[in-house]
Amino acid sequence: MVDGWLAQAMAAYNAESLANKEGYRGLVMMPGETLEQILHWTLESLPDEILIGLDADNNRPHRQEVDEMFEGGDHENGLFAGEGYILGEATIVNRGDSFSVHHVPEEWTDGIFSESRGPRGGRFVHWLHTHPNAVAVPSKQDADAAQYTLGVDMILGIEFSPSGPFGWYDDTDGVRRKLQPEQVAPVRQKRGWGRWRNSPEKPVLGVAPTGHSIHGLELISFHRSGTAVNVIFVDEEGYPYGWEKFQSST
Ligand SMILES: [Zn+2]
Repeated sequence: MVDGWLAQAMAAYNAESLANKEGYRGLVMMPGETLEQILHWTLESLPDEILIGLDADNNRPHRQEVDEMFEGGDHENGLFAGEGYILGEATIVNRGDSFSVHHVPEEWTDGIFSESRGPRGGRFVHWLHTHPNAVAVPSKQDADAAQYTLGVDMILGIEFSPSGPFGWYDDTDGVRRKLQPEQVAPVRQKRGWGRWRNSPEKPVLGVAPTGHSIHGLELISFHRSGTAVNVIFVDEEGYPYGWEKFQSST
């Protein structure tokens, strides 16, 4: 069971994923426990970014009724590897700055560090990396590294305090997807965290086991073609957080 605040944040995120389903050509489902684990590693690894490898869990296909509710008219079958299966366990593969994090240590490749496999050696189907106290918008390096991803790439932006030497950075354009209760709005409407910058008391979504206060989370997913992929957080049964509410509202 994930913490209550996180379950709430994921339900709000899912509501937004549902409201904006027409903007996406693909769909990926992440277990809430996986997000919780990744958050923990993220905070433990500060100030570094971390790189997470993920595979599809072949024993956990998407529930059909969930796919039916969340697939929009532009949905394309066969867009990426691992499609149709809930993400499996996360593995922490690397940590470093925004450049080095993509260049995985040799023990994570199978000895083949070839041009064709890219800097990450192609060991996992999906990849996620973090942007501590920065928005979840891909950099040039991120887009380059994603060219070798068979599944999808994800970026987790996390705003926390105490923030150490890193101030909050959100001076970037791009589509933002926040995990935050009570704020469900179209993705194109820009809602930066920056407006909280000057307020002495930032809202706290929850407190991590590391003692950090978490003020905001955002997660985006994209395919190497550049197309955005919708993300849904699912529980142990494979249903989205907030599922009962979604069903009664449709
Ligand atoms: Zn990045």
